[in-house]
Amino acid sequence: MDCIFCKIIAGEIPSNKIYEDELVYAFHDIDPKAPVHFLVIPKEHIRSVLEINGTNSAVVAHIYEVIAKLVKELDVKDGYRVVTNVGEDGGQTVDHMHFHVLAKRNLAWPPG
Ligand code: 5GP
Ligand code: ZN
Repeated sequence: MDCIFCKIIAGEIPSNKIYEDELVYAFHDIDPKAPVHFLVIPKEHIRSVLEINGTNSAVVAHIYEVIAKLVKELDVKDGYRVVTNVGEDGGQTVDHMHFHVLAKRNLAWPPG
């Protein structure tokens, strides 16, 4: 499958990995938009949160558990943002569901 995130999980494209288990993979974004900017993705190829249903939704809960663990380890637990872009208007550029975690700068609201 021609998916860069599936290739990252498979080790075919190098990445700066933070965490991995049987369900998810976390790595630093190649083009960081904050001093801390990493992505958490399911190992299963799910195109976006629009495809979440009763069969695959457990991985989303697990992703949030992993985020809670990683923000403590990276010492950003007191302020961070989790972002999921969906579809063209939502700014999604990679069609493999991912959760951005941004921290260590003042994050504006509303986002652009
Ligand atoms: P999106 O725009 O779909 O919400 O987010 C995709 C993210 O993936 C972007 O922030 C982009 O910088 C990141 N990205 C795209 N290709 C690669 C890659 O090959 N390696 C890493 N580490 N990040 C990537
Ligand atoms: Zn994929």
